[in-house]
Amino acid sequence: MKGLIFSVKRYSIHDGPGIRVTFFMKGCPLNCIWCHNPEGISSLPEKVLRNNRVGGKTFQVEEEVGKYYTVKEIIEILDKERVFINQSGGGVTFSGGEPMLQFDFLLEALEACKKAGYHTAVDTAGYSQAENYKAIMPFTDLFLFDLKHLDDKKHLGLTGVSNMLILDNCRFLAREARSIMLRIPVIPGKNNDMVHMKAMRDFITKIENGNIFRISLLPYHKIGSMTYKRFGREWKMEGVEPPSGDAMRLLKEMFSETGLKVKIGG
Ligand code: SF4
Repeated sequence: MKGLIFSVKRYSIHDGPGIRVTFFMKGCPLNCIWCHNPEGISSLPEKVLRNNRVGGKTFQVEEEVGKYYTVKEIIEILDKERVFINQSGGGVTFSGGEPMLQFDFLLEALEACKKAGYHTAVDTAGYSQAENYKAIMPFTDLFLFDLKHLDDKKHLGLTGVSNMLILDNCRFLAREARSIMLRIPVIPGKNNDMVHMKAMRDFITKIENGNIFRISLLPYHKIGSMTYKRFGREWKMEGVEPPSGDAMRLLKEMFSETGLKVKIGG
C-alpha cells in the first residue's frame, strides 16, 4: 500500500516530543481559510511553478507536489534518523492535510512504526469516523487534535465543515486515547474573541479530559500566504495580522484555569 505525501520534515521539534520525522500527507476534508499548508488540501498530486534563481536570473520550473511512499520507505526514512530520534525521546508524526483521509495507509504505517520501536503521533483535525480513531489508537502514542471553533455555523463558514463530528471525536479521544495534545489556532477576528475563547476553556474543563496532557495555543501567522499564489488559490486572510504577544499571554493565563498545562506554540 502507498500513501501520498507532500513533504517529509526531518528534525521537526513542534509536532510532538523530542526530535521527530513528520510526514505531511496530502488531502484534507476541511478547507480552513487560514490554512498554512494549502498544498495539503487536494488529495491528488499537483503541478506548480517554482521560481529558481541561478546566476542572478530567475527561472520558472515545474514541480510536482505529492509523492507516493510505501510503508517500507517510511520505515527506511525513520531508520536513518534513529539515533537522533532515540537520543531525544522523539518519534514519528503523521500530519497533513489530514492523515485520517488515507486511513488504510495510516493504519498500516502506524502499526509498522510501532513494531519498529518508534513513538507515534497523529496530527488530526478530528473529522473522521470514531471507529477509525478507535482502530489506530493501539498504535498511536499521541494525538495532536485541532479545535477551531465551537459555534457550528461559524465553523462551517471558516472550514467548510460542521464541527459536530469533531467535537464528538474530541470528547472520545480525551477520554479514551493514550495521550492527547489539544491544539487551538488563534486566528484574529475569526475565533479569538474572549467570549469564544472562554467557551473553549469551559468545553475543555467539562469533558472528561484526563488524557489531555497539554493545550497548545497556536498563533496565526502569514507564512502560508505565498504558497497560495503558487497554487493559484485565493488568500482570504489579507490584512489579518498575527495576535500580539500580550494577547497570547492573556489567553495562556485564561486556559490555565482548566488546570491543564498550556503552551504558546506547537
Ligand atoms: S484542517 Fe489543517 S490542513 Fe486541513 S485545511 Fe484546515 S488548517 Fe489546513
